[in-house]
Amino acid sequence: MKKTIFAALAAFLIILSSCTETVPDPVTSTPVESTAPCPLPSHVDSDSSGFCDSCEASVTVTVDFYAINDLHGKLLDNESQPGVDELTSYLKSARASDDHAVFLSTGDMWQGASESNLTHGLMMTDWMNSLGFASMTLGNHEFDWGEEFIESNLALADFPFLAINIYERSTNTLVDYCTPSVTVSCGEATIGIIGAIGDCYSSISGDKVSDIYFKTGEALNSLIKEESERLRGEGADFIILSIHDGSADASLSMEHVDLVFEGHTHKNYVKTDSNGVYHLQGGGDNDGITHAEAVINFAGGESTVSAAEYVPNIIYKSSPSDTIVSELMKKYESEVSKADEVIGKNEVFRNGDWLRALVARLYYERGAAEWGKEHDIVLGGGFISVRAPYNLSSGEVKYSDLQSLFPFDNRIDLCTIKGSDLKRKFLETSNSNYFIFCGEYGNSIRYNIDPNATYYVVVDSYTSSYAPNNLTVVASLDDNLFARDLLADYIKNGGLE
Ligand SMILES: [Zn+2]
Ligand SMILES: [Zn+2]
Repeated sequence: MKKTIFAALAAFLIILSSCTETVPDPVTSTPVESTAPCPLPSHVDSDSSGFCDSCEASVTVTVDFYAINDLHGKLLDNESQPGVDELTSYLKSARASDDHAVFLSTGDMWQGASESNLTHGLMMTDWMNSLGFASMTLGNHEFDWGEEFIESNLALADFPFLAINIYERSTNTLVDYCTPSVTVSCGEATIGIIGAIGDCYSSISGDKVSDIYFKTGEALNSLIKEESERLRGEGADFIILSIHDGSADASLSMEHVDLVFEGHTHKNYVKTDSNGVYHLQGGGDNDGITHAEAVINFAGGESTVSAAEYVPNIIYKSSPSDTIVSELMKKYESEVSKADEVIGKNEVFRNGDWLRALVARLYYERGAAEWGKEHDIVLGGGFISVRAPYNLSSGEVKYSDLQSLFPFDNRIDLCTIKGSDLKRKFLETSNSNYFIFCGEYGNSIRYNIDPNATYYVVVDSYTSSYAPNNLTVVASLDDNLFARDLLADYIKNGGLE
């Protein structure tokens, strides 16, 4: 990452714009340190020694980056994970003890636990504000409630939402709630953070993203390269790529990207690519976070990543508990109080597949009650994704348990489907991804499907909007009635005992 004299000049301009107490005041030109002013327009370090060729002043700044991915709304302690109260203290002390600390997120932050879901992400965004996050890259799950909730979170956020590759179909321009990058000044060093959602369009319910598309592959690489060149031209000394899904292509790390934070797969790793650039991911659901320390040269010399690590929660969960979580719970009390409602009792441990099969049955029963007089409904079901903790333990059931298991806001639809598709997609047992429940009518015809006839099924909008299913929505239940609500009603009426 050799810099041109242009970059050195740009660095000089940044010195002027972001002085700290150890930098000579640019207005009065009064040196506050013992070193004489540099005779050059700005420091130059052509041999990457870390010191100016001319005046021998130090030209590096050490910055610690802490990145969080896939926290999935887990602000509160639960059975399997700590909440963020201890993590808050850990990050605050990192900021207090380091010269410079930058916090960033690579997405999937809001959705997955009742305290965040019941506020549509606002509680999580508020927490990130309290810690002064520099940026958050949007993940696929930021789209789960639709773009309007990205907008409402953006209105609250003190930091930008990054994604260089989310495009409006109608105008072929970047969506207005995203920014391609942000720059952060740490002392005399300027850091550019570029965000990208990566290639995860297909993991979003189709009806939530029909107006937009994601640029991927070579198109995404070009966007990142152009943005990196633009940022370097404006004086950035160090470029981070914060990408939700996928990793930076090796061609990017040649000269366009110095450090990569990733997400989405919920794995934890610290690895270097063929160009020696670090890629980090910190698990998911508060398993841990990642940390990298960079020694950034702002005089045109080489910057180096001096440390890169996965920080598992065992490292920070013994930190003191910060009061932020209880403050936020108070602030959002009216929204989140529903989470604590005990709705019934579960007699024995139920695994995720058992629960998915139950939801398929509830889809069928609710659909049959609504539309069964007019239409013969073959089945209820679909993909019906279940989330952490993936099962329901025995004992009291709270609304928050169901919210964690079935966090998705997928509308319930009556659809038509051609017999051949019905067989291929739902009835043939080889498709183990789908859970189905056939009523009396469905059972009477399921081995006798006419490939050319039209049949009725009840699925949710995640399944109905998945184009290869060839489903046509003909009617829908209430827009605010989802799998967890059907389950809550079922349990309130004595189910699971
Ligand atoms: Zn995730
Ligand atoms: Zn994701």
